[in-house]
Amino acid sequence: MQQPLTEVNGIGPEKAALLASELKLFTIGDLLEYFPFRYNDRSRFYTVQEALEADIAVQIKGKLRNIREVKAKKMRLEAEFFDETGSIDLVWFAGLKWIKSGLKTDTEMVLYGKPSVFNRKVQISHPELNTLESFRQQTVSALQPVYNTTDKMKAKYLDSKGLERIIKPLLLNYYRSIPENLPDFLLHQLKMPSKSEAMLNVHLPQQAEMLRIARHRLAFEEFFYHQLQLGIQNKLHKMTYRGFVFERVGDYFMDFYTHYLPFKLTVAQQRVVREIRNDVGSGRHMNRLLQGDVGSGKTVVALMAMLLAIDNGFQCCLMAPTEILAAQHFQTLRELLGDMPVHIELLTGSVKKSERTAIHSHLKDGQLHILVGTHAVLEPDVIFKNLGFVVIDEQHRFGVQQRAILWKKNTSPPHVLIMSATPIPRTLAMTLYGDLDISIIDELPPGRKPVKTLHYFEEKRLRLFGFMKEQLRLGRQIYVVYPLIEESEKLDLANLEAGYFSLLNAFPRPEFQIGMVHGKQKPEEKNMAMELFKNGNTHILVSTTVIEVGVNVPNASVMVIENAERFGLSQLHQLRGRVGRGADQSYCILMTSFKLSQDARTRIKTMCETNDGFKIAEVDLNLRGPGELSGTRQSGVEDFKIADLVKDNHILLQARTIAQEVLEKDSELTQPQHQLIAAHLAELKRTRRNWGRIS
Ligand code: ADP
Ligand code: MG
Repeated sequence: MQQPLTEVNGIGPEKAALLASELKLFTIGDLLEYFPFRYNDRSRFYTVQEALEADIAVQIKGKLRNIREVKAKKMRLEAEFFDETGSIDLVWFAGLKWIKSGLKTDTEMVLYGKPSVFNRKVQISHPELNTLESFRQQTVSALQPVYNTTDKMKAKYLDSKGLERIIKPLLLNYYRSIPENLPDFLLHQLKMPSKSEAMLNVHLPQQAEMLRIARHRLAFEEFFYHQLQLGIQNKLHKMTYRGFVFERVGDYFMDFYTHYLPFKLTVAQQRVVREIRNDVGSGRHMNRLLQGDVGSGKTVVALMAMLLAIDNGFQCCLMAPTEILAAQHFQTLRELLGDMPVHIELLTGSVKKSERTAIHSHLKDGQLHILVGTHAVLEPDVIFKNLGFVVIDEQHRFGVQQRAILWKKNTSPPHVLIMSATPIPRTLAMTLYGDLDISIIDELPPGRKPVKTLHYFEEKRLRLFGFMKEQLRLGRQIYVVYPLIEESEKLDLANLEAGYFSLLNAFPRPEFQIGMVHGKQKPEEKNMAMELFKNGNTHILVSTTVIEVGVNVPNASVMVIENAERFGLSQLHQLRGRVGRGADQSYCILMTSFKLSQDARTRIKTMCETNDGFKIAEVDLNLRGPGELSGTRQSGVEDFKIADLVKDNHILLQARTIAQEVLEKDSELTQPQHQLIAAHLAELKRTRRNWGRIS
């Protein structure tokens, strides 16, 4: 298994180099653990009608007609593929002559390919086509493995089929010598197949049920070792770090609570404040995730925790992902604190040198109680006298390393409160963060009316404008948001500007004032536009998603989201959370084009049906998988080779339970039946696959 890939038949130095640079595969063992990311089910046939709706590659029986070469900038070949339910367009861009010579009308064909939308029409480009006769002669296995490859690999014939051609004989020759990583007693107890058998079935599945058992076994192994590593590391963490003890509930906290708090805390807020107080009073180091839907009132909870720290002679830091958000927090905290003698400052990239120097010195001499800021607070010259409490808002924008920097700003790590409006299931959070405690605010402040969400197709735009006018004349304000996707930033900006001008036409000055914010503006321009909207000087704010997180304008009661089909669910939910903050009935209007993919339809439907962030997160997770989940990208979770944090959640729980049992019985893994486990853990550590992380 440790032998280099050049030892494998069919892999020369060039391919070996590609596999190393593209996929980080170096040894035979690496290659054998490069698992198919999905399987084509070639046992199922779709009708053309079904294919037109499908989001995945489909297999259809039918005939070709209307084969034609089309002269455009580049020649292309087009045809129609039809059955009794309808027809779908096919298109080819390369190898036209050769392909055309193989296309026959009037012959039953089997087509395999993935439908996509182009110019509002569904088409399949470069489908795989066989005559029905030759299809029947091939003994195609019903479940065909599909391996992920890259463009560079494809250019050297290392596409999915190419990899299969290498992996298959290799596996058949060597699978018996694949070492076992799970001890006999576990395989027995859990009725799992051996590793070698599982490997064989995952690469060359004969049957769906056997594939399921094999995947389960391999995913279990991954989760099991991951959970063991976390378990061992958490124990170390608890032995190494003691937390600062905030024993006093002093004047700052009490004064605020009795004289300044402008509302009654919800039951959920009270519970979370109590949970935090228990943590910071215990001598343990607190590492707590505070989840609460947008608008649930996380900020005031964070403030009360910070006041507790100040009561005990510590300084606090609140870090937010954007300048707008940091500024907003700063302002909110100042308003809440009123004339209390709490010294609070804002530090962002755009703070002037002189102010910055003053902040630095006040931090060092301990005068400054609360520092609010962006990444700027991580700079090495930001030195605290005695940092004791850190609040991180919307932490998924920050990486693990950045959290680690804050940890090191005192001799012992400060307590950490991470606030997030993107709820993730508990098991997933534990897997990501290890020993993380979770608090949940599952209740909105009283008097909020749930936001009404409506879906409009583009042709209802006039009606939309009419509705907007009605709301504006009631004195309300409106957000209009455009998507921004990095690849086509220019186009998106053009879109935004076009939208802005069409609004200017429909909502003429001076009765209506329209502002605009987007990512390409200077911070001053952005802040200015936000300020004008906040003060009610502009009535409509046209923006990209820069307002996604945290902005608070209670008088804004309508959120119009343009091209809503291009947003992810959690983003849509975040955006909707910008309205419904005042006493008025609020609305979220999702504008889309007519043609929607299956997933987009699910997203829009979910938004119209529920306001519950947890439900939305679950649907999101199912649609996207955890790799896409905010924050999991940089935290190394994608290192799992076969396990899937969402789909295999039950396996994760199983692995977690068993890992805990093993560690409880034998925390040093010295007992004879655990020797294999200890050895494999050591091996994982040696081969850089240690998932241990900071928080
Ligand atoms: P989020 O959890 O999204 O960060 P915020 O902390 O910004 O929510 O709070 C949203 C709004 O609700 C703020 O205007 C805040 O003043 C208000 N708020 C928070 N808690 C309460 C409460 N218990 N009663 C009434 N209003 C509250
Ligand atoms: Mg907030």
